[in-house]
Amino acid sequence: MKDILLRPHHGMCIRFFEGKGYSDEFTAHMEATMEKLQEKDCRIVLVEKEDEICQKCPNFLEDGCRTKEKVKRYDRNVMELTGLQAGEKMTFSQLQEQITAKITGPGKMGDICGDCVWAHICHG
Ligand code: SF4
Repeated sequence: MKDILLRPHHGMCIRFFEGKGYSDEFTAHMEATMEKLQEKDCRIVLVEKEDEICQKCPNFLEDGCRTKEKVKRYDRNVMELTGLQAGEKMTFSQLQEQITAKITGPGKMGDICGDCVWAHICHG
């Protein structure tokens, strides 16, 4: 099994990703990570810290994410609504099922990350 660390709110970013990102390197890494997440022997580990997606992000500074307070809030919101916790391991599709059932299905996206700079893409 290949474990990939993933912040809970990145499950939502990946779902709505359409090739736009903070830099070309970030976008290429996002696409490569999304491919890995589809592999049969891949499992995610939920974390409340910088994860696989953050590795190539220009906002990932020495002391962590430039917007750490905001993204921690997004992570906490996703965990609160789905009932998932940091440290849990699952497939990416299992995370997506929870996000659909507890967040996007009931129309609760705005409660999670309505103030995100990318909200114009995801929140339609
Ligand atoms: S903005 Fe922050 S949480 Fe989002 S990918 Fe960059 S470093 Fe990670």
